[in-house]
Amino acid sequence: MKVSEHIANADNTLFSFEVLPPMKGKSIDSLYAHLDPLMEFKPSFINVTYHRSEQIFKKRSDGIFEKIDIRKRPGTVGICAAIMNHYQVDAVPHLICGGFSKDETENALIDLNFLGIDNVLALRGDAPKNEKVFVAHPHGHRFAIDLVKQIDNLNKGIYVEDDIVEGVKTDFSIGIAGYPEKHFEAPNLEIDIMYTKEKMNAGADYITTQMFFNNAKYFEYLEALKAANINMPVIAGLKPISTKKQLSILPSVFHVDLPTELSMEIMKCKTDKDVEQVGEDWLVMQCKELIAKKAPVVHFYTLGKPQIVYNVMKRIL
Ligand code: FAD
Repeated sequence: MKVSEHIANADNTLFSFEVLPPMKGKSIDSLYAHLDPLMEFKPSFINVTYHRSEQIFKKRSDGIFEKIDIRKRPGTVGICAAIMNHYQVDAVPHLICGGFSKDETENALIDLNFLGIDNVLALRGDAPKNEKVFVAHPHGHRFAIDLVKQIDNLNKGIYVEDDIVEGVKTDFSIGIAGYPEKHFEAPNLEIDIMYTKEKMNAGADYITTQMFFNNAKYFEYLEALKAANINMPVIAGLKPISTKKQLSILPSVFHVDLPTELSMEIMKCKTDKDVEQVGEDWLVMQCKELIAKKAPVVHFYTLGKPQIVYNVMKRIL
């Protein structure tokens, strides 16, 4: 079922989880071990992130260093199919513009369609770690809106390969990213929201937010979207904090603020175990308010910390 249908059919707040594909060379069993306990809470869907390839220098046998492309976490499409088959739950693959031509994207969408996956979260992606700014693939997309348009076109039977006539129409529900604290490259929130509206007009169905630690920012964001006549559901993205280092890592990597009260509590912690407890309590508090105020979905960036999310779910359900 599509994410948009899950939301439309629900009376109460739904829950969803997000996982990363295992590192290349690792078994999918590690991912199942991560998800198994969480399935008790009957998530409506599970998102699987997409990771672009990175360029590294590898020493050849003749001693010369060679620049090669490696994708450390491949398999998003296959993992989505595996998750749907293993748990009978809907999966939402993330698709990114970075590193992909339009043809490669089209082929990925055809694979998804054949696998019965009718959800996609359409994203631009970021620059590779060793590059400062995002550069589009020469035959790919510059912004997420162009990916949204490509998926929407496929839903109408319009293929990039333009000699296909009367092509099969896909039926993807298209999600996009939203930033309650604005995207770091946007000059301001208003302009960021202007582009979000363009994505809605291009065919996007719903927004999943970047993680936030201050619910007030989410509610203000909803108001700002409403003022711009954006009426898509907004899935609330939450992340468990588990280490002291995240006090500086999260703002620098994800461009989000941590509230003073939360930061002070974390600073007082003696061990990362203590931080996990603070993170868990904070998430419980965020969830309770989001549920009370009828957020359509609470989406957990479970990443490497399923136990905290498990404890939170136990406390809020
Ligand atoms: P865009 O919508 O293209 O926006 C990027 C910037 O350009 C913004 O500043 C925006 O205001 C501006 N902009 C948008 N449209 C236009 C336009 N037409 N003209 C000029 N400026 C414009 N990354 C991954 O690599 N893999 C993942 O799996 C992944 N999952 C994510 C899931 C969520 C819920 C979120 C919030 C982010 C995720 N990301 C992921 C990170 C995301 O790719 C980055 O945040 C990226 O920098 C922006 O993606 P976007 O889709 O918002 O881009």
